Amino acid sequence: MASETTVFATSLSLAEAQTRIIEIASKSALSDESILLETALGRVLAQDVRAPHDVPSFVNSAMDGYAVRFVDLRPEGETALRLSGVMLAGGENALQVEAGRCVRITTGAPLPQGADTVVMKENTRADGDAIHVAPGALRGANVRPAGEDYRSGDLALLRGTLLAPAHLGALASFGQTHVRVARRPRAVLLTTGDELVAAGEPLGFGQIHDSNRYSLGGLLEQCGAMLLRAERLRDDPELLRDALRRAGEDADIVISSGGVSAGEADYLPRLLGEIGSVHFWKVRIKPGMPFLCGSVGRALVCALPGNPVSGVATFLTLVKPALDTMLGRADTMIRLRARLTQAIHKRHTRAEFMRASLRCDDTGILHATPHGKQGSGMLRGVAEANALIVIPEGLQDFAPDSLVEVLPLPGWI
Ligand code: AMP
Ligand code: MG
Repeated sequence: MASETTVFATSLSLAEAQTRIIEIASKSALSDESILLETALGRVLAQDVRAPHDVPSFVNSAMDGYAVRFVDLRPEGETALRLSGVMLAGGENALQVEAGRCVRITTGAPLPQGADTVVMKENTRADGDAIHVAPGALRGANVRPAGEDYRSGDLALLRGTLLAPAHLGALASFGQTHVRVARRPRAVLLTTGDELVAAGEPLGFGQIHDSNRYSLGGLLEQCGAMLLRAERLRDDPELLRDALRRAGEDADIVISSGGVSAGEADYLPRLLGEIGSVHFWKVRIKPGMPFLCGSVGRALVCALPGNPVSGVATFLTLVKPALDTMLGRADTMIRLRARLTQAIHKRHTRAEFMRASLRCDDTGILHATPHGKQGSGMLRGVAEANALIVIPEGLQDFAPDSLVEVLPLPGWI
């Protein structure tokens, strides 16, 4: 189709749009805040963290057994040592190991003075106070030096890290109760369309339930944003103008759905130009071509087409990179590839996102099966998928078993 080139003459490729939106979002980096560790899971670290002290901070035992002086052990045959005490993890007494003696010790207990080796309990035999140690222990065995895990001053966590449980554990091991994270982006969601009614309301003639309120609202939350409010608006330029203006006053990001194409009730491109600015409009993707990016007040505006699948696809490929950038997240565009289980014949030149099921075989290889429902209005295709297949621009046929790029839906892995 010669016309496709003409129609999209001013449009951007997917890669260009991603670069542009990341560049724009990087100018609206968020301030940071200090929050309690217990509320920090899934937040983005706002500063590098160095270990404030050695972890562990003292030499201790890695095993339950006996702390001994290596020089006391005979290289061959059993060595009999006299038990002179017990050191438990958390116990108060610091003991000493004299020549020919040993101290019973548990994992994590400080190593007694004089000892340099721990013999595991399984390699000993107790006979009253006499502990018989089997031969073969190595010098320094089962001893954890101070700072074995983190040395004081080590760069432990990098700014931009998405905080996972182990990161919170590491921060706690430094004695921290709080952590500095990027503030969550404040989002306003505007779903637009005269045909929309809220879930829970009966459907009148030609009406549909506003499903984008939930699918896009859910994506916002999953991607770290805080939904300030969701408004459902009629296709009325005055209402849209007012909602956009207000959103520009208190939001960091405004997501709208609908009204962004070339239909007669599609006011957003013009309105945004009037009360804010348009950065770019139209991306050579399917679905989601009319995606519009602009600014109003302090907020980045991402106007998504109303079709439910277009909304999800443009959110994942354009809005999410923008949110990640605002949050200061390190590279999150992880590219995975999977083998196609069936042929794909692409009959248009735009990049295409296909809803697909990813399956991991016994050897860990991913296989992608396109969903039977690929219409951009069919939410079922997304609800039953766990990934998008990203087919690059250009006319292409893919044979079964070809490798294609896949973008797992958030939460799948
Ligand atoms: P539009 O982008 O406004 O032309 O809408 C494209 C298609 O998406 C139409 O079929 C709309 O009815 C549908 N649509 C728009 N907004 C929503 C919404 N919030 N939830 C579900 N479908 C929608
Ligand atoms: Mg509409």
